[in-house]
Order: sequence, then structure tokens, then C-alpha cells
Amino acid sequence: MTHFEKAPAKINLSLDVLRKRNDGYHDVEMIMTTVDLADRIELNTLQEDRIEVSLWSRYVPNDERNLAYKAAKAFKTKYNISKGVHIKIEKVIPVSAGLGGGSTDAAAVLRGLNQLWNVNATIAELAALGGTIGSDIPFCVYGSTGIARGFGEIIETLPSPPPFWVVLAKPDIGVSSKTIFQKVNVDELIHPNTNAIIESLYEKDFAKLCANIGNSLESITVSLHPEVQRIKEKMVQAGAAGVLMSGSGPTVYGLVEQQSKAQRIYNSMRGFCQDVYLVRLIG
Ligand code: ATP
Repeated sequence: MTHFEKAPAKINLSLDVLRKRNDGYHDVEMIMTTVDLADRIELNTLQEDRIEVSLWSRYVPNDERNLAYKAAKAFKTKYNISKGVHIKIEKVIPVSAGLGGGSTDAAAVLRGLNQLWNVNATIAELAALGGTIGSDIPFCVYGSTGIARGFGEIIETLPSPPPFWVVLAKPDIGVSSKTIFQKVNVDELIHPNTNAIIESLYEKDFAKLCANIGNSLESITVSLHPEVQRIKEKMVQAGAAGVLMSGSGPTVYGLVEQQSKAQRIYNSMRGFCQDVYLVRLIG
């Protein structure tokens, strides 16, 4: 039996780091939404009890370090399943980019195996299982638009923004979330106005959304990789209405209402940095 699952990238409309916990994690508040840039996951049942991962990427391991592998293992253990699975990943989302590529693959595996093997777990159960593997996975299990709290495991869904255009621009570097979080000093961070963003989603107010998007980690990533700031400035100059770094970076996104303008911004960003995409919000 074969099952296909789409694994869309996410962007952060906000990322706030509230405090460092005793267990070393940080309590965060993150509003995220999905865009139509997606990896494709194909799941095939194996009669032997083993997990195989195949993918073409220089940057992603195809063994037990792959988050999709970890998700399948956790799922099999939790639901006591002795069949195996072959996971084929067609990687489209850039790696270590702040777009949740690994997390969304893991989430897609959880959703997909739930269907393939008729387990009937709820989305909340799958999200909780995902949270044992990585902090962005619970949101990715839900998809759409939502706010993640705790270390990312508490999800509340939110109204999705209209299908605006999004220009994604990623410099030719990868950023590890772990490295950035290690440099966090909560007292020095700028905190986004999360409530104003939530209001803008309920009010469908594009200008208010763009005025309030914010990311506590941006200044840390920029201090290590100044090209992120240059890309932000270029994106603003090019005319994007709301510009922000996603996750721990380095991808910068620009929100744009009209397609023709988004196309112009996309054209001017190409020439300027390595990976540029023109996508839509699908939240
Ligand atoms: P995060 O903010 O959670 O770090 P990201 O989008 O910045 O997410 P990912 O693309 O998820 O970064 O990659 C982070 C790391 O996870 C990389 O070192 C990569 O090798 C590893 N990884 C493991 N499995 C996957 C996968 N299926 N897809 C992408 N990366 C994976």
C-alpha cells in the first residue's frame, strides 16, 4: 500500500522567547502559517519490521538521524506496530533555513502513517507524539495557522490570513536553531506584539499584520550573519509590505498583496541572493 502526503513549509509571523526554563528549553510564543512550498512524502508499507528513508540531498541524512525516520519510529512504538515502512522524501524546502523543513516531513509521516495503517489517532495525539521529537512538529501536524506555546507543544489554531503572496529569500548559509537559542539572553531581546498579530488575523487587516510581525531571534542571527540584514533591507526597498526573518533564519520573507508586485520583488531579489521563491500563503 502507498500513501502520499504533502509537507508544506511554515513561516513565523511571530517568534517570541519568553523565558529560559530549568530544563534548558525556552518557553516561546510563535504564530506560524504555511506556504505552498512543500516536500512530498511517499509511504510504502514493508512486511519486514524496519524503517527505510530514501532522499536526494547533500544536507540531509537518510538514516535514523532523519526526523521522518524518528517520527516513524515513535509512531510504531506508540501504537505497537510491527510492520515496517519505506519513506521516500522529495526535498523541495531548503534545509536549515528556518522554514521547518525537517519538522514538516516528520509531521507528514505521522499524519500519513495514521492513515496508511488505519490507526485513527486524533490530530492532538499525533501533535503530542511529534512534540517528543521536535518543538516545531506539533504545529506542523496541525498545519494552517496557529500559535504554539510552551516549548512549541501547546497549539491553538488561529484564522488564516488571506492567500497573500510571499517572497522567500535565503542566503547561501544554513543556521542551526540550537546555536541561536544558545545565544539567547531573554532580557536583551525585542518582543513582538503577539496580541496585535492575533487581532490582525481576526480582523483580516493586512497593514496591521505587516506592521506587527516580529521575531526575537532576528537580532542574534543578524549579529552572526549580517547578510540577513542586507536581504531584509533589499526586500523592504523592493516594496514588500511586511518583512521578517523566519524561525532562527536565515530565510527572510516579504508579504505582498498583489501578484504583479510580488513578481517584481521576486525578480529583484534573484540576482541578490542564492535561493529565492515566490509562493502563496495557504494557511
Ligand atoms: P529548525 O528551525 O527546526 O532548525 P529548519 O527549517 O531551520 O528547522 P531543517 O531544514 O528542519 O531546519 O533542518 C535542520 C536539521 O535537521 C539539519 O541539520 C538537517 O540535516 C536535519 N534533518 C533531519 N531530518 C531532516 C529532514 N527530513 N529534512 C530536513 N532536514 C532534516
